[in-house]
Amino acid sequence: MTLAISRGPIVEPRTVQIAILGTGMGGLGMAAKLRRAGIDSFVILEKASDIGGTWRDNHYPGSGCDVPSHLYSFSFEPKLDWSRKFAKQPEIHDYQQQLTRKYGLRPFIHFNTEVTECRFDEATGLWNITTSTGEKFTANLVVSALGQLNRPAFPKIEGMENFKGASFHSARWNHDYDLTGKNVCVIGNGASAIQFVPEIVDKVKKLTIFQRSANWVVPKADRPYTDTEKRMFKRFPFLVKLHRWMIYLGLERNFLAFKQGSFFSKLFEKAGRKELEKYVADPKLRETLTPDYPAGCKRVLISNDWYPAITRPNCETVTSPIARITEDAVVTRDGVSHPADAIIFSTGFESTHFLAPMKVTGLNGRDINDAWRDGAEAHRGVAVSGFPNFFMLYGPNTNLGHNSIIFMLECQIDYILQAVETLKNPKLRWLDVRAIAEKEFNKELQKDMQSTVWAAGCSSWYKNEAGKVTNNWSSYTAKYWWQMRYLDLDEYSFVG
Ligand code: NAP
Repeated sequence: MTLAISRGPIVEPRTVQIAILGTGMGGLGMAAKLRRAGIDSFVILEKASDIGGTWRDNHYPGSGCDVPSHLYSFSFEPKLDWSRKFAKQPEIHDYQQQLTRKYGLRPFIHFNTEVTECRFDEATGLWNITTSTGEKFTANLVVSALGQLNRPAFPKIEGMENFKGASFHSARWNHDYDLTGKNVCVIGNGASAIQFVPEIVDKVKKLTIFQRSANWVVPKADRPYTDTEKRMFKRFPFLVKLHRWMIYLGLERNFLAFKQGSFFSKLFEKAGRKELEKYVADPKLRETLTPDYPAGCKRVLISNDWYPAITRPNCETVTSPIARITEDAVVTRDGVSHPADAIIFSTGFESTHFLAPMKVTGLNGRDINDAWRDGAEAHRGVAVSGFPNFFMLYGPNTNLGHNSIIFMLECQIDYILQAVETLKNPKLRWLDVRAIAEKEFNKELQKDMQSTVWAAGCSSWYKNEAGKVTNNWSSYTAKYWWQMRYLDLDEYSFVG
């Protein structure tokens, strides 16, 4: 559709001032794409003192990606020399640093600057941005790239404030504390725990894992790339493209396994059971470790060293719920006291409270939490009606269980770039997604969701307290790409 704006004298396109919030993969990708488009009128506001988002924060031992490396990089900035099939955190963080250097992004970044509030001013059509440093910014357009997994979640356990030993969250690992020879209690057994437990099990005296639910664990087809492979990738970059496509198609096919009751989901479960049989000889422990929900309802974990680690003689999996924490132990409801020199909380993130604790106020002084009182949602995961020129990366319903988030981010970045181009028109002040478009989109999305395993009866970080799946995309990523390939101005109202 073309814009119907009254004709007048030709005016120069205006400069759109953009504020990007966060320097994780989303924020960096957005900034790099703006630079590629020749747009320099932006700032990036980052609460920490370094770039990287989740890949800066999650530096626990063994931290790495469970999406293949060549698909965990931007298509416009491929890395030809990934060292292994599934990269570890330092290499991914290094990729982010390279991206920052190549696109000269540092001068655009305001470090140690947490955004506390974004308030839209109808009179000027600008977003007023307040930060923790007291510095204020104004922008025509805001791109929030805060992600879904940036705020560690801690359980509320009686007596935890009395604990005298060391305690920290896996996403804020304390490398100064030496775990050697210590009694270590790990609360949680999700994607993070499964990576660091095998790294620490041999050095600690006793490792006690508190499991609330079992997880489906399947093998990880990981290995280093050979020198020949790396040389070939460097010499013939099209091979990287081809490799990337093969990975993408393979993962995309995996979506079939996330359909409730599908043949492929049974295959996943079969693979999970086979792993258990391979590594866990004790039938009682095997039963303890067998999930009671369909594979994929919670994130399927991939690892080759989790079961070998938790079956070590110095490792115990405890399923009795935690009753309280004392000065030096974790006590479970069955009355057993588990000695603890250190407690590691691997209890995930505040995933469903999008944008929190930032305050976002749109048209007519409306708070975004009011728009989201029944659970967060957005038009195509990026825009919310009543919040003009405010876009999100990795927003509601854009997380995946089967493919690379980088692919989703690229769809979103290109979509937002179209909004930026549209807003260059000096007669346009803002774009606001129509409530009806947002509603229709989410109606279809939630309908699709009903046939997926995410809607099945397990608790997960994909759902809010009311059971609404607010985090995951409900279909193939190809469907998302198709819907995001152009910004349909029919879906937006615009004010000039
Ligand atoms: P998570 O998957 O949400 O796991 C949290 C764990 O803590 C679960 O086992 C949960 O049990 C348990 N837990 C939470 N509250 C508890 C309580 N009050 N008492 C006892 N146990 C409690 O968190 P995560 O392991 O940090 O991973 C989060 C996400 O980060 C992943 O799903 C993934 O998307 C991402 N991640 C990705 C990678 C990667 O390789 N790309 C690596 C790490 C993390 P329940 O299951 O019963 O709730």
